[in-house]
Amino acid sequence: MTVHDVEHLFSSARLASGQVRILRVLALVVLVWVTVTTSSVQAANLSVTGAPGIVVVPATDVLENHTFRAPDGTLVFVDNAGLAYALIEDPSDPEIANSGDGSFHSFDAPGVVETLTALPGEIRAGLHLTVFVLPYPRRGITSSTATSSAVFLCPGVYPIGNDVTLHSIVTHEIGHVWQKQFLSDPADPSWQEYLTLRGITDEATFNAQAPHAYRPNEIFAEDFRVLMGDALAQGTGEVENPELAAPGDDPGLVGYFVSLVAAYATAKVSSREIEELSRVYPNPVPVGQFITVEFAGQSREAMVGPRRVSVLDVRGRVIDELEVDPQGRLLIEREWGTGVFWLREKTGGSRPVRLTVVASR
Ligand SMILES: [Zn+2]
Repeated sequence: MTVHDVEHLFSSARLASGQVRILRVLALVVLVWVTVTTSSVQAANLSVTGAPGIVVVPATDVLENHTFRAPDGTLVFVDNAGLAYALIEDPSDPEIANSGDGSFHSFDAPGVVETLTALPGEIRAGLHLTVFVLPYPRRGITSSTATSSAVFLCPGVYPIGNDVTLHSIVTHEIGHVWQKQFLSDPADPSWQEYLTLRGITDEATFNAQAPHAYRPNEIFAEDFRVLMGDALAQGTGEVENPELAAPGDDPGLVGYFVSLVAAYATAKVSSREIEELSRVYPNPVPVGQFITVEFAGQSREAMVGPRRVSVLDVRGRVIDELEVDPQGRLLIEREWGTGVFWLREKTGGSRPVRLTVVASR
């Protein structure tokens, strides 16, 4: 709608120039009102701090702006790629195995935003996707899924709180999106490295047609959930597959995820909001010198009490545990020798930082 359109509403009367001017002002007021009203509908989409490419569409907004009623009465959802899906509005539909309390319950949109906000800054900043909080399940797809540009959160038949279930599912699905965006080529050496590190190269056991927990993509999404998610998303730290070790226990795997994320990072580490050992410098460092250790999520001035750091070698063995001094400094011990090491916060932190120690000058 333009000013001209609004003026046109009044054009039947013969008007003096003064009256035209008043109408022009009136038209602008109407235009502004229309614009504000329209944008308040669009503003129902939620954004995520530090994630310019992520949009969360709450269930009410999905219903309002992403569905239509087909001639046969079916409610149809259209995704961001233009694909249409019939929705199941009745929990007693034969496709719904358990009708629960008799109604569908969507994911809590603010909880979804909270989960996404807790992801490491590099991940949030680099992702482009729409998260649809579905009001009803899609016919034929009665669980949450992901494409390379969208996450579809399927409602449950019981209320879903802002809890372990929500955080786990959202983070797991983001793991799928991340893999589809950055590691989709099975021939990618980085993907092959992952399969090898995880010990899942045996294609007879681990393949896309295997039971859910044995599909490499699912194992990756689970590792992503545990290593990149917040405390609620991590849960016990175990993954869906009962035969695989918890990823956090494998420094090689943790290091793989850390370096993978860093390779695609578009944001500065300082934007992280999770309290983690985030950066050391200088890096590489000569043996016998001090490094400065930074913890994300707080400034160095705000550090309270001593912080302890574990030092791991490339084979994942803890070779030392040290205290960071009040200035955030740590001495690189000569007995470590030179090479690649990983530093990890002793308590709480799960993500190690890679450190290269070189011969002293
Ligand atoms: Zn999955």
